[in-house]
Amino acid sequence: YLNRVFAVQSGINALIVRVQDHAELFREACNIAVHAGGFKIAMLGLIDEDAQKIVPTASAGADEELLTAIFKVLNSNELAAKTLFARVILDKQTVVSNNSINDTQLVFQKNYAERGIHSLAILPLLSAGEPIGALALYAGEPDFFHDEELSLLTQLTDDIVLAMQHIGNREKLHYLAYYDALTGLPNRSLFLEHVAQYMRSAESGGHKLAIGLIDLERFKGINDSLGRTTGDGLLRQVAEWMTQRAGDPSLLARIDADHFAVVLPEVRSDGDVAQLTEHLLDSFQGNSFHLNEAAYRIGFKAGVALFPDDGTDVDTLFKNAEAALKAAKAGGNRYLFYTQKMTDAVAEVLALENALRHAIDDEQFVLHYQPKVDLRSGMVTSVEALIRWNHPRTGLVPPGKFIPTLEQTGLIYEVGRWALRQAIADYVRWRRAGLLALRIAVNVSPLQLRDPGFIAEVAKMIDTEPDASAGLELEITESLIMEDVEHNITSLQAIRDMGVTIAIDDFGTGFSSLSHLARLPVDTLKIDRCFVADMTTSPDGLSLVSTIINLAHAMKLKVVAEGVETEEQKRLLSLLSCDEMQGFLFSKAVPVAEFEARFLKQESH
Ligand code: C2E
Ligand code: CA
Ligand code: CA
Repeated sequence: YLNRVFAVQSGINALIVRVQDHAELFREACNIAVHAGGFKIAMLGLIDEDAQKIVPTASAGADEELLTAIFKVLNSNELAAKTLFARVILDKQTVVSNNSINDTQLVFQKNYAERGIHSLAILPLLSAGEPIGALALYAGEPDFFHDEELSLLTQLTDDIVLAMQHIGNREKLHYLAYYDALTGLPNRSLFLEHVAQYMRSAESGGHKLAIGLIDLERFKGINDSLGRTTGDGLLRQVAEWMTQRAGDPSLLARIDADHFAVVLPEVRSDGDVAQLTEHLLDSFQGNSFHLNEAAYRIGFKAGVALFPDDGTDVDTLFKNAEAALKAAKAGGNRYLFYTQKMTDAVAEVLALENALRHAIDDEQFVLHYQPKVDLRSGMVTSVEALIRWNHPRTGLVPPGKFIPTLEQTGLIYEVGRWALRQAIADYVRWRRAGLLALRIAVNVSPLQLRDPGFIAEVAKMIDTEPDASAGLELEITESLIMEDVEHNITSLQAIRDMGVTIAIDDFGTGFSSLSHLARLPVDTLKIDRCFVADMTTSPDGLSLVSTIINLAHAMKLKVVAEGVETEEQKRLLSLLSCDEMQGFLFSKAVPVAEFEARFLKQESH
């Protein structure tokens, strides 16, 4: 639901820049709510001060009959006072009905039920704290409006009020106060207001935010040599390019002559900002701008500051981004972060990315193998392939150090393919050499599974040898499977139909709904290491593992305990009827030759 509200908000933000008058603003806002936000109906009413009435001003999705009914009630003094609209305006507070079908307090309860509406929210439009109207949104789903949705929607009504203030009689003045007349982008003041808003969402959402200030290179030269009109044309093209890239002009601003600003409202990892900035710089530099029939390429320098790391209020954040930009302009860097630490971290990420590209070309990756053991018989049943990077200088690098970067850069597809191919090749070799041919579990990144070509790729790889599928298991993390259950059920089924088995990895760390789990076509459930560790330190830990094992068995899944390090853990797992274990107690992951020598030699008869 939050995504739908986000769609409405960015649609309306885009609207605010181009809309000409109040009527258009209200009409379009309602249309966006219905078309981008998937609301069944959106309605906006304004207070008519003179008549002391609420006047329905714009709507989308509502039919004539409903509108007539609403008009009639709002026109009658006695009935109008009973409506939610009236209450919202009186209390200056949002009213929500998340189960409107059964909400007998609703004046229009029956009308809404007939139209398939299950939730509704009415939000006041407040100007300087005083109500000037209200926005009503009607959803087809019950229980649609939660705190997050409402806080976004409150921002949205603020945006609408702000937009109203820009329009109207004093519209030009206000427009000039908040927008850059040349490019139509928000100016510095409005940008700071937007950033302040995004900061509040970042704070409540527990994520970071970044602002970047951008300085066009060579702009002065172009302006001086080609003339001001040409310079203006260039600035307009740059603004257009940025608006297209950002999709939402409220993320942008022109702050003075050749300075632009951009805010990234949601930053999940520092590496993301670096990657994004790099790509932005590259594609900007790769784009041709047309001036007087000639094509020009233009570079920019950028300074980036992060919230909350580099400032917890807008002014500080902005000042620090300016400082970073200044430093970038003074030195040779295309862009700099405010803190050296960040800049260093980014340099490291980029160096790592480079080194990983070499690693692929030079085949520096290896698979190590860790056995899984049957808890009853003590026999090795199968094996997990764990990737390592054999760095020419530093030696073996564990996957935790490079998998995230492979994922961020998309290199994971290639490396993931390599790991699958290598495991299948090892399995086939074991079988041909008369060794114990154990099934090899290969870890699959969420990105690989989401790739539409993945299943066909796996099919092709196992097609190289009859029955190669008996040598392959895919380990997929729990959180990934639960993200898009319906789609994943289909994909997993297709994989299993080939004879490849599937294990849910790190079980217990995601948020599985049990009803979903029961429907998943999987073979094995791997209990995450942290639960195995907790088992011996607390009674709760023990009963949790017991529950997971019973649950898995009820669903006919095999259970593997990960990270078994002590005899005590092994003993308890046996008592709880866990099927298999994997961990340092028995063996760590070892190079393939060692694995073959220790675990695959069949006794000769
Ligand atoms: P994972 O799939 O949960 O793998 C188990 C990790 O626990 C391995 O770490 C293994 O060495 C470690 N481990 C095994 N037994 C014990 C134990 O008794 N105690 C402790 N403390 N640790 C134990 P490793 O090899 O560093 O791998 C880390 C993660 O990297 C893996 O977690 C997996 O998610 C990912 N990974 C490894 N290989 C690949 C790969 O080929 N592709 C992808 N996408 N991810 C991989
Ligand atoms: Ca695994
Ligand atoms: Ca695991």
